[in-house]
Amino acid sequence: MVNNTIAAISTSLSASGIGIIRISGEDAIIIADKLFVSKKNKKLIEQKTHTIHYGNIIDPESNEIIDEVLVSVMKEPNTYTKENIIEINCHGGVIVMQKILHLVLSNGARLAEPGEFTKRAFLNGRMDLSSAEAVIDIINAKTELSLESSVNQLKGNIYREIKDIRSKLLELIAHIEASIDYPEYDYEELGEDMVLNNLDGIKEKVSKLLNSADDGKIIREGIKTVIVGKPNVGKSSLMNALLNEDRAIVTAVAGTTRDVLEEYMNIKGIPLRIIDTAGIRETEDIVEKIGVNKSEELVEEADLIIMMLDASSDLTEEDRYIFNLIKNKKTIVLLNKIDLPVRITEEFVYKEVKNTRVISTSLKDNKGLDDIEKAIKDMFLIGDINFNDNLYITNIRHKVSLENAIDSLNSVKESIEMGMPEDCWSIDLKNSYDYLGEITGDSVSDDIIHQIFSQFCLGK
Ligand code: GDP
Ligand code: ZN
Repeated sequence: MVNNTIAAISTSLSASGIGIIRISGEDAIIIADKLFVSKKNKKLIEQKTHTIHYGNIIDPESNEIIDEVLVSVMKEPNTYTKENIIEINCHGGVIVMQKILHLVLSNGARLAEPGEFTKRAFLNGRMDLSSAEAVIDIINAKTELSLESSVNQLKGNIYREIKDIRSKLLELIAHIEASIDYPEYDYEELGEDMVLNNLDGIKEKVSKLLNSADDGKIIREGIKTVIVGKPNVGKSSLMNALLNEDRAIVTAVAGTTRDVLEEYMNIKGIPLRIIDTAGIRETEDIVEKIGVNKSEELVEEADLIIMMLDASSDLTEEDRYIFNLIKNKKTIVLLNKIDLPVRITEEFVYKEVKNTRVISTSLKDNKGLDDIEKAIKDMFLIGDINFNDNLYITNIRHKVSLENAIDSLNSVKESIEMGMPEDCWSIDLKNSYDYLGEITGDSVSDDIIHQIFSQFCLGK
């Protein structure tokens, strides 16, 4: 048990917006009793655990009433940190909250470091490290989908999976060690084949987690979507149309290049980071050329391309240039301006661009937007990302640990195939075991722990 009492302003995750001052530690209740006077004039220390009390916070020196509050009493060990916790719900705004926090600090608590509440939850055995990290992700979650993934992680999905893999590794290590230490140890199946078989099964499980890492990145940062098309096809109109529908706009970031605009939006629960580029075309104009190169770069990095064509005019060199540029990407082609006399058909585009979805739109008449949404949803939800029952590694630290674990497993395989002695196998098996343990925090250095928890905002 960590032995001092910490406090911080911790804004609740719910939409209510009421400020909470959270105190955790041995003396949390004693400190609160110095400041809080309940309407029934009863001390908090006498109250049952997990109860809420109405009263005033009073400055013990001046006897001034600071705010009318609700105080939650949660006694150890069944709390978030496994320590005594007091939560003071106040409604007096930031200044009042600061004042109350100040009183709490001058009466025996110290200011919590960022993430320290969750760090304590981890250190006191309340949650494993990947769950604790999921708290960071929840705080930072930009979209609902991202939030859902974090919540699953918090429930310990990754922890359970890793634990399962580690126990299989441990079993393998145990058998090998036993056969080294006791040559007479009668484990019939132990032999290269048995080890190699088990190894493949384990590697497959680790790889599966690792493969989810790219999807995880998408969930967290948004699917990077780039709108391309020659000038005047309607790129900016599309961007505006998508934004004007009542979809949740998460943030808006003005682009750095002229006519490049970037927005975060949430389409049917799928987070998109959508970029409207300047027209892509070959040009002699040096200023324009910079814009063009930028667009090509964006196409290269994109997860999804929305290419726009003007259905009312014939294909141009510029269109063909873009077709070529996007041929290996996931694309949706929009045939825009179908309100005008049409010169390009969907069939025609399907012949020009392979593996794409073609959608006819008229942004002028607001036609086709639903189809665009549906296409995106199909491509990313039903197709590649199915977030309902899959695990996603959304965290770069986890990804690195998984990669290291796989490297070690490969080394084991190599040792066996090269006919190295059994104790060489078990060294790499143990390494792999440790790398996986880094994810759940079972084998992780203090430095890493400190670094992880310092990413939290204050009060969590
Ligand atoms: P961008 O240069 O690709 O960004 O194209 P804009 O979005 O600025 O649009 C160029 C012009 O085409 C504007 O005058 C738009 O009003 C017009 N426009 C966009 N979509 C449509 C459409 O579906 N039908 C018609 N008739 N005009 C459109
Ligand atoms: Zn534009």
